[in-house]
Amino acid sequence: KQNDQPRPAGRTSVGVSFAASLTFEGVHQRFGSKDVLCGIDLSAEPGQILCLLGPSGSGKTTLLRIAAGIERQSRGRLLLNGEVMASESVFVPPEHRGVGLMFQDYALFPHMTLLKNVAFGLTGLSSSAARTAAASALERVGLSGRGDQYPHMLSGGEQQRVALARALAPRPSVLLMDEPFSGLDSRLKDTIRTDTLQILRESRATAIVVTHDAEEAMRMGDRIALLRDGRLIQTGTGRELYRDPVNLFAAGFFSELN
Ligand code: ADP
Repeated sequence: KQNDQPRPAGRTSVGVSFAASLTFEGVHQRFGSKDVLCGIDLSAEPGQILCLLGPSGSGKTTLLRIAAGIERQSRGRLLLNGEVMASESVFVPPEHRGVGLMFQDYALFPHMTLLKNVAFGLTGLSSSAARTAAASALERVGLSGRGDQYPHMLSGGEQQRVALARALAPRPSVLLMDEPFSGLDSRLKDTIRTDTLQILRESRATAIVVTHDAEEAMRMGDRIALLRDGRLIQTGTGRELYRDPVNLFAAGFFSELN
């Protein structure tokens, strides 16, 4: 189900799709006197979808923000393809990491056409090259020919796909998604999730997806990392976590699935 061919992996450059590995090594995060992450060792492999699963407050978003470079960890290292992005002595700013971000609030600009929304982040390209790249990203999410429309003309699911196109357009080496489906009603969610999964597979992107929903993690993740109170409880495939939970907490998380 993963990539059938080996691909070169590397930092992103616009127009070239590279899937990277992303590794957290002993990552701690402390806010005031509170330890929010306590020594996280975790890797997302090239072309894989890693789901960060856990209850609210377990540290999922903080881990994603550290990966993006929006936040800096208090200890430990973050590596992209073996290259240090953040450590005690190194801090590569977000715009130089080649990671794409998609948050639950899609935050499309209402006054811009879809094409402009998608092209917005494509800095470093001429405007005609950015338009071409944006049009091709819209095509990838099944919205070709809709570039001149405005966000309000779209359904929630379509807006979500525009946000996905915008995140994928710069060909990020890793796509970071924070609860990407939480704004959708349950009827739509299934379809959009399946679509998104297919788009991620076709783009062969490495992705880290934050969710508090075990079923979603089972459906989307090649691997799942289960977190609680800033600690990694268990990592494995959905099947492994479902069949062999390491403790009652893990068992409880999956107990409502069948
Ligand atoms: P999750 O995404 O799993 O819900 P978060 O990473 O958002 O968890 O939060 C983990 C913990 O860190 C929570 O207790 C939250 O209140 C705390 N936290 C997050 N960001 C900050 C911050 N900037 N300052 C203080 N505490 C924070």
